[in-house]
Amino acid sequence: MNGGTPFAARLERARLAMSVAGVDALLISLGADLPWLTGYSAMPLERLTMLVVPAAAGGQATLVVPELEAPRVVPIPEVFSLRPWSETEDPVEIVASLVRKETGPSPALAVGDQTWARFVLGLQAALPSATWRPACSVTGPLRAVKDAAEIEALARAAASADKVAAALLGGEIPLAGRTEREVSAEISRHLLEEGHEHVNFAIVASGPNAASPHHEASDRRIGKGEPVVCDFGGSLSGYCSDTTRTVFTGPPPAELAHIYEVVAGAQAAGVEAAQLGRPCSEVDRAARTVIEDAGYGRYFVHRTGHGIGLEEHEDPYMVAGNDEPLAAGHVFSVEPGIYVPGKWGVRIEDIVAATAAGPEPLNKSSRALTVVPS
Ligand code: ZN
Ligand code: ZN
Ligand code: ZN
Repeated sequence: MNGGTPFAARLERARLAMSVAGVDALLISLGADLPWLTGYSAMPLERLTMLVVPAAAGGQATLVVPELEAPRVVPIPEVFSLRPWSETEDPVEIVASLVRKETGPSPALAVGDQTWARFVLGLQAALPSATWRPACSVTGPLRAVKDAAEIEALARAAASADKVAAALLGGEIPLAGRTEREVSAEISRHLLEEGHEHVNFAIVASGPNAASPHHEASDRRIGKGEPVVCDFGGSLSGYCSDTTRTVFTGPPPAELAHIYEVVAGAQAAGVEAAQLGRPCSEVDRAARTVIEDAGYGRYFVHRTGHGIGLEEHEDPYMVAGNDEPLAAGHVFSVEPGIYVPGKWGVRIEDIVAATAAGPEPLNKSSRALTVVPS
């Protein structure tokens, strides 16, 4: 890499993975694979954008793009050539003819997971002897291992989210007496002020709503002495943040304080288990065991974590059954919770990077039980 972009090296890794998997061409449209390979994000339009990457060494990667979108593409001639198509051309036929030119008579094709069905069906009709599989089978394991620049970008996003968490824990974002929706809007505003370019979500779940892990902020007014689960994230320089802190608007009853300590213990155990070479499922098992041993196993209703990068949720997943060994460069959430329906809930979430020196939490805001000043 001549000190320039990471894209040529990524394309090389993709080509290698394609040849191992027996894929003749990669067809990438919407979603994060495209910016990962080219730096360009396609808008979710009805017009087709598609990167065609032949596996053959010396084959030319081509970005087929609507002519009116072409000015947004930053060309990287050593990585891909540009094929803008005009309003009267058929982009599916352009892609099909590139595939015919670069591959054999019955090519194995890997198509981007978020390609509109319309275009996939059109391509299948135009290339009747091709076989198809999802592009994530090639790109997923590659994108899961972050390079140094990506880990730095994720750490920057996490540090920015941590400033919002600090504002929350310090009582700068008032809770009691306001609606969840108002607090969610204020958390979103803080994320932008701290440098995020997009807010992806800002869950605020108070009192009994805290028992719903993906609760949508509502008009419920937050009371005193309640748990408030705040789970928020956005993207900064394209890379995502995602952190959860559960705070209290008054001293919690003893049982709730106990639940908080159990979740905090489970979260720490999950992080500690994230040692290189151990299966991803171990992170889930370590966190879950703490919660099960405390008698709350049936109230921990989701996996312990997900990979994060250009997307909020991507490979690798910290879930029972995922035996993939943790590798240096895997970055993922550790976010156990206990959700007692109709009553209350607690979740604590940090993003963690697996490194040779051990697990490194990128989120560093306090995990201690915090009663926010009001
Ligand atoms: Zn989620
Ligand atoms: Zn989250
Ligand atoms: Zn998460």
